[in-house]
Amino acid sequence: MLEKLDKLHEECGVIGVYLNDVNANAANYVYYGLYALQHRGQESAGIAANYNGVITPRKSPGLVSEVFRDHNELAKLQGNIAIGHVRYSTMGGSDPRSAQPLAANYKQGDIALAHNGNLVNGESIKEMLTDSGVIFQTTSDSEAILNLICQNSSSRAIEQGIRTAMDLMKGAYVLVITTQDKLIGVRDPYGLHPLCLGKLADESGYVLASESCALDALDAEFIRDVQPGEIIIIDNNGVKTLEPSLWRSKNLCVFELVYFARPDSIVDGVSVYDFRRQCGALLAQQNKIQADLVMAAPDSGIPAAIGYAEASGIPYGEGLIKNKYIGRTFIQPTQEMREDAVRIKLSPIRHNIAGKRLILIDDSIVRGTTCRRIVRMLKNAGASEVHVCIASPAVKYSCYFGIDTPYRESLIAVQKSESEICEYLEADSLTYLSPENLFKACECKDLYCKACFNGNYPMEVPVTAKPSSFTKEGR
Ligand code: SF4
Repeated sequence: MLEKLDKLHEECGVIGVYLNDVNANAANYVYYGLYALQHRGQESAGIAANYNGVITPRKSPGLVSEVFRDHNELAKLQGNIAIGHVRYSTMGGSDPRSAQPLAANYKQGDIALAHNGNLVNGESIKEMLTDSGVIFQTTSDSEAILNLICQNSSSRAIEQGIRTAMDLMKGAYVLVITTQDKLIGVRDPYGLHPLCLGKLADESGYVLASESCALDALDAEFIRDVQPGEIIIIDNNGVKTLEPSLWRSKNLCVFELVYFARPDSIVDGVSVYDFRRQCGALLAQQNKIQADLVMAAPDSGIPAAIGYAEASGIPYGEGLIKNKYIGRTFIQPTQEMREDAVRIKLSPIRHNIAGKRLILIDDSIVRGTTCRRIVRMLKNAGASEVHVCIASPAVKYSCYFGIDTPYRESLIAVQKSESEICEYLEADSLTYLSPENLFKACECKDLYCKACFNGNYPMEVPVTAKPSSFTKEGR
């Protein structure tokens, strides 16, 4: 994928670790887990550690390696429970105060929360809280969620407060929370974003994480996905689950499979790698173009390109090399920066490309500017033809659930017809995966939100709500 270059797709990664040994240090585990989740957000990182109910947060803008460059900082985070967060800041949202986890002290003691997602009724919840005297330091939904939970838990168990908050919140949210002696995981009733539960080696504790790749990084055993609407509480009694209070049909964001999640993750029982490979194979069945080489826009286009090559019989090869050593200064959430970054981030392998008819596979196109630059780059390197194949349907609608797509008017598939997009890309042909084939890749199960492709949002989206890229909620 032309990741983070022409696309604003981003969200957050969350993790929580509970160690059975009260003298053990959970922050070290969270630190390594955050590395595995770094692809979900590069703007800020943080860890909050819970030592006997006293919570210490450490967070700031930067990659995990930058925020915790000084290992003394990590050593200060004592306690057998810790939560962590990596965040992408959307437009205007790089305020360091929005870095997470958010920590506070409420009537029952210290609490810290890490959040991934976006509420569609965030503004009305903030208004309700403001009316009751709450003061906000950030514009994020995450702070509103923290306040809502604290307000509803002041005189009763935290899990009851969370449940009441869940009844009020509408939208997408995955939460990991620590308070008193507990680690708590929450997934919204639609299950729009993933959260899984794992067990550490030797039964030493538990992990909650956005993706299973973080469990692998900790050598933890995958137990199961947290169910939509479920609240999981981990304490010295083990793992307890509160069943969803409201049943909703599951609507995992299909973009988690198309682009966000790491290919080695299993999300809600689906191998991300296999899903992408299958999309590539289905794309090859749709497309009978003759070519010499199938190549990917690195990195998330690679499994689809391999699937395409296997199904078509056209050899797979590398046509672009990605510079892996570029820091986050090149991952800026402005269009201009993203465009400039393409040249520096990607470079053609002329020897593989010159004189060849190429099939270029990418996972998606949002604005198309990066794809155009890549097509031009490949042609300048001597490619005789470049056929662009997209392993998902055309993105025609904005996301309101924490995935950072631009306003609808900025989406190229809204502005232009398919042939006009092909012309704009300067490609020899353009093929999108058909909606029917996306459905096939989802094993013909209707368990996914595909609203950015078809406009069928899993819940009412108020006309006043803005797409998430402009609301900069906890992602
Ligand atoms: S609208 Fe698109 S990006 Fe947003 S949750 Fe649904 S599928 Fe994912």
